[in-house]
Amino acid sequence: MVIDMKIDKESIKQLRELSQWPRAELAQLPTPMHRLTNFASQIGGDLDLWVKRDDLTGLAGGGNKTRKLEFLISDAIDKKHDVLVTVGAIQSNHTRQTAAAAAKLGMKCALMHAGWTEDGGPFYREAGNILYSNLMGADLYENTTKRPIEDETPLNEMVDYLTAEGHKPYLIPGGASDHPLGGLGYVICAAEIVEQAALEGKQYDYVVHCTGSGSTQAGLLAGFAALNVKTKVVGIPDDDETQIKKERVHRIANDTLTLLGKDAQVLLDDVEILVGDSGVYGVSDKDTFDAIKLFAKSEGLIADPVYEGKAVRGLMNLAKNGYFEKGSKVLLMHLGGEPATHGYANQYGAIHFKSVPELEIT
Ligand SMILES: *Cc1c(COP(=O)(O)O)cnc(C)c1O
Repeated sequence: MVIDMKIDKESIKQLRELSQWPRAELAQLPTPMHRLTNFASQIGGDLDLWVKRDDLTGLAGGGNKTRKLEFLISDAIDKKHDVLVTVGAIQSNHTRQTAAAAAKLGMKCALMHAGWTEDGGPFYREAGNILYSNLMGADLYENTTKRPIEDETPLNEMVDYLTAEGHKPYLIPGGASDHPLGGLGYVICAAEIVEQAALEGKQYDYVVHCTGSGSTQAGLLAGFAALNVKTKVVGIPDDDETQIKKERVHRIANDTLTLLGKDAQVLLDDVEILVGDSGVYGVSDKDTFDAIKLFAKSEGLIADPVYEGKAVRGLMNLAKNGYFEKGSKVLLMHLGGEPATHGYANQYGAIHFKSVPELEIT
């Protein structure tokens, strides 16, 4: 198939490998992409809708933090750190992926769980991500400090404590985002997307995904900018801190481009974060659960209530409100989070069993 691709294969290859940066081998890449035919017809808008399966990056539970951690943890090993330290909510996918990475690489891991959200119900401290982190041998700490994630006091206190204990802790910020290497993982992903789309003979008009700590969106924006690809990145927030996010994404994207030695720039106006109905972090409403159910029933895929459910709901609203031109090529990023489903299991409504009626023998 002949297509008009102004991007040269060499630049894609360069960004896909980023071979000048050492990486710990953690993620199974490239992740698959496939069409979402049923869901697309449910939400309308006549979209050519696909999904990028970053829920299948490979460590227990999968997810987007694994791509980022490849770079940060390699840096930690290189600098002879012996314990990975990070922070998240109790049902954080990021802390769980850090625990998994530490287990795989034979490192110690200390996780600070901050009070970024209220407990989500009776399973919140028992199941899902926190259960996985515990199984994978991480030391679990708790501090009830509320958001914003910019407040790194609990994390710094833990670093001081571990240092006093004779360790050399490596500090990974919330979501592995606000770190010099935080944007690299999704630069690779942007190059992967451009290459996979080219195999389908196209380029995406939009990539839609849930945005939180920001380096997923920043890396994608930096990667597309470096390749001079016009794909628009639409972030659907996990909370109501849109302005803070926008500035953080903008800063990380441009820092990443500088690190890559690229002249391209991401403008603040290129950072599209919808001021939506996402509400408070970790809290979902009926519309989000309805979106999760529709996504599950139409595609056999699970979106969690903290992140992906909000992304799916946001995508539905965009389609309904005519945000996309008819026929747009849209890629939904599935960034993981499936284990959190279990932490919030009480919020989905009761499960009803049917019984098989006895047959009447005549
Ligand atoms: C962390 C996370 C996000 C948000 O990614 P950021 O890089 O923090 O913006 C989205 N979805 C899931 C499932 C996540 O775990």
